[in-house]
Amino acid sequence: MGDGNRDSHSFRGAKILENQWLSPIGLTRSAEFVIVARDMTRAQRIAMFQRRVLAWYARHQRKLPWRATRDPYKILVSEIMLQQTQVDRVMPKYRQFLRRYPTVHALAQARVDELKKVWYPLGYNVRPLRLRQIAQRAVRDHGGQIPNTYDGLIAMDGIGRYTAGAVLSFAFQQDAPILDTNVARLLSRYFGVAGQARRGTTARALWKLAEQVIPTGKGYVINQAMMDVGAMLCTARAPRCGSCILRRGCRSYPHQLSGHAAPAHD
Ligand code: SF4
Repeated sequence: MGDGNRDSHSFRGAKILENQWLSPIGLTRSAEFVIVARDMTRAQRIAMFQRRVLAWYARHQRKLPWRATRDPYKILVSEIMLQQTQVDRVMPKYRQFLRRYPTVHALAQARVDELKKVWYPLGYNVRPLRLRQIAQRAVRDHGGQIPNTYDGLIAMDGIGRYTAGAVLSFAFQQDAPILDTNVARLLSRYFGVAGQARRGTTARALWKLAEQVIPTGKGYVINQAMMDVGAMLCTARAPRCGSCILRRGCRSYPHQLSGHAAPAHD
């Protein structure tokens, strides 16, 4: 967990580590990568992470409909839909939902039976009801606006730490951290944080890293970028370590597939 464990290994230890890790997934590489990764300070490791993730994102980012808006309501709808649900399934429903309920006020007045029909077949039907509650509270307490503060967001049922960070970052352009499944997996592998990502000290360490990797004024872009790297390179079951832009600084490179448990959304 954190910097410290592998940094104390010897060069010989690095070779052993390399041999253990190379054979299961058939990659070839130089032991130099391990040495480079281990000898970095945390600041250097973070700087490399930021530089490479942002450069990769500039070329490879996914085109997602909720990235074309800064409307807090629409961002919130997308984030609630993405809880437990894959991007491909959310995209058509996101558009359909916003056609039917284009504003906070429209959703606040939604009839429950119709709302459930519009939501179908996404599942987890408590989500549209919570979304409606949030809209009603926004109308009642915030003049129909989605709050732009952490405290204002987290006070609402259905908004946890991740969703609050996503709304602050993606809608209000604040340097707020996020830690969804993809980001947690990426950070835990790159920085070598062991343990259950949803629990105790591991969760705290990952949230801290999620804050530390944000370059000033770039919360939106680095958060989006980390989600894409996690979804497209550092995937759960088949991480593309051999071609990963982070491999020189990654403390898990090449990742062997065992024991990682990433958190779900809130
Ligand atoms: S090198 Fe592998 S484990 Fe490390 S960040 Fe890249 S894909 Fe993930």
